[in-house]
Amino acid sequence: MKVIELLLSLFFPEKCMFCGNITRKAENFICENCRQRVAFCKDLKCCSICGKPQVSLGEKEICYPCLTKTYRPYKRATAVVKYNDETKVGIKRYKNGNGEIVGEAMGVLMAERVKEVFGGVHFDFVTGIPPSDKRVIERGFDPVAVLCDSIAKELGARYEKRVIKKIKKTKKQSSLDYEHRIRNMIGAFGLYDGIDLKGKRILLVDDVMTTGATIEEGAYVLKKGGGKEIYAVTFATTTKEPKSFNEKSEKS
Ligand SMILES: [Zn+2]
Ligand SMILES: [Zn+2]
Repeated sequence: MKVIELLLSLFFPEKCMFCGNITRKAENFICENCRQRVAFCKDLKCCSICGKPQVSLGEKEICYPCLTKTYRPYKRATAVVKYNDETKVGIKRYKNGNGEIVGEAMGVLMAERVKEVFGGVHFDFVTGIPPSDKRVIERGFDPVAVLCDSIAKELGARYEKRVIKKIKKTKKQSSLDYEHRIRNMIGAFGLYDGIDLKGKRILLVDDVMTTGATIEEGAYVLKKGGGKEIYAVTFATTTKEPKSFNEKSEKS
């Protein structure tokens, strides 16, 4: 990233991913001002399983939904920032605008967070939640692939692009409430032919986690295909407040 950063600063003015202001103080595309306002997960108390920031956590730093859940296909999940009005802007910019540049910076932050939280875990490869083809065509690039590329480079891991594929038409998650988001994703994914997942430790990537339904469905097919341990990382994550999912909080 160091060389890339240098090159980028020659050709592009540094713009903050959240407010878009050009700033000389930008570090990884987040200006000093936004650094104060954005809620970084590393500064918050987060559940050690789902990675969601929580106000109150039990003894083992596990949130109530994780404590009561009987089956979870991923081992642990983490995120860089809490999803709120500030971070929403940055994510929109990465998905719709010059996504490659911002996405790469996001990936660097995600890799940093992975090292911080899952330190010492060796991943056999990194792979992403697949977009619906229509969206990739509309935007001209696959936002999650940009993240995966950047994260894999930073971690010195392999990026396997064709692992999970979409096999069922799903509704836009942002148009659904909590209950329907979970149902919407069931059976949504399958695996590409000829993928060997036996005994593999995999890092699964997506941009935002709200209900966790997408990540869980992705992790589920990886597990079913023989994956040993699935870890997940997203750029942003919401706190677990099912009611707030009724608002259009996830634009994906
Ligand atoms: Zn800013
Ligand atoms: Zn949890």
